[in-house]
Amino acid sequence: MIKYICYCRKSTDEKDRQVLSIDGQLSELKEFASREKLQVIDFVTESKTAKEPGREKFAEVLKRIEKGEANAILSWHPDRLARNSIDGGRIVYLLDTGKLLDLKFPTFWFDNTPQGKFMLSIAFGQSKYYVDNLSENVKRGLREKLRRGVWPKLAPIGYFNDLKIKSIEVDDEKSKYVKKAFEKFAEGGTSYSEIARMLFKCGIYRKGERELKVDTVKNMLSNKFYVGTFLYNGVLYKGSHKTFISKDLFNKVQKQMERLARPRLKGHNFPFTGFIKCAECGSAITAETHPRYYKRTNRKVVFNYYRCTKSLGNCRQKYITDVELEKQIRNMVLKCSIDDEEYKIFMDLYEKDKLIEEQSASQRLIELQSKISNLEDQEETLLDGYLEHIVEPEVYKKKKNEIFEEKQKICSPKV
Ligand SMILES: [Zn+2]
Repeated sequence: MIKYICYCRKSTDEKDRQVLSIDGQLSELKEFASREKLQVIDFVTESKTAKEPGREKFAEVLKRIEKGEANAILSWHPDRLARNSIDGGRIVYLLDTGKLLDLKFPTFWFDNTPQGKFMLSIAFGQSKYYVDNLSENVKRGLREKLRRGVWPKLAPIGYFNDLKIKSIEVDDEKSKYVKKAFEKFAEGGTSYSEIARMLFKCGIYRKGERELKVDTVKNMLSNKFYVGTFLYNGVLYKGSHKTFISKDLFNKVQKQMERLARPRLKGHNFPFTGFIKCAECGSAITAETHPRYYKRTNRKVVFNYYRCTKSLGNCRQKYITDVELEKQIRNMVLKCSIDDEEYKIFMDLYEKDKLIEEQSASQRLIELQSKISNLEDQEETLLDGYLEHIVEPEVYKKKKNEIFEEKQKICSPKV
């Protein structure tokens, strides 16, 4: 008489969605048992991984079989019983010694013959291979992407992950709106939430059709991905994706962000404050606006006045209007300007200088190009060393960043 113990397993961290839940396995196996008229003496369930040996319930099942309580196992698939070489081997050994007479799986044909056991060993081997490969494949895919300069995560706004060619591509429509947002912000006077509102109107929003958070907008505006580089695990990479934001625009946005981060001072949007001082006492000059109403013509005119702050002591200077100040400044500039003849002399000198500069610049360009190609060779050697486990990950990260920064310095001194 063949007596079965039914064993169901699914580990909580099992990524494979195709594996039935424990309840699903139980009901399927109960149905299978009654259809095949199997005598099942117990149903055992366990929610543990089979990657490593040491499952308690599974060990109990084997013990009961060794004792003779049962002599067969019913399970959904061989990979439910074992995903490591030890557990798989024990099952095969129990079959060899005759303690196990049969195994039944609805998804796998097994016959207790040399061929059957051979097929079973392969199934166990495949399960182990699957586990070993899963993590290795993920790592390999990641390395491959980084090597190709592909950001291995969700594409930033204005881009999409092209799953077919495993790269990040520009979203034709959304990228236009992102560019507009960068341009609008660079002009100044636009807040982060206004940018979020602007994007919302163009159909760019977060979950639940709500405006992007201010932090998301900030991250977007400062994300160097838009100018072709990205940081992954502390290592900088040169991205291979197309860009639609110029470095110039990006830098303008960064300056605007810095400006917003600083506390704002009132009255500092006058063109002449900050660089002129009172001629009498040397104090700083400040400016104010005063609207004036003309009753007769029913007009309101705004006047800008500049005055000495008198912070250094007594001073007899009074207010002057911006028109008067401009006159004064024009006169001063005129005094130190040059005439036409001098202009010609200087322009000649300038042209000569320019020629010399151009020559030395092209010389320098050749030098820098050879430097870059040297750095690229180093980078390649470093990566090979890392992939062959000769170079430690920490050393790799550090060195890779050094090379990258060196290259960045040569290619674009600003970003
Ligand atoms: Zn003064």
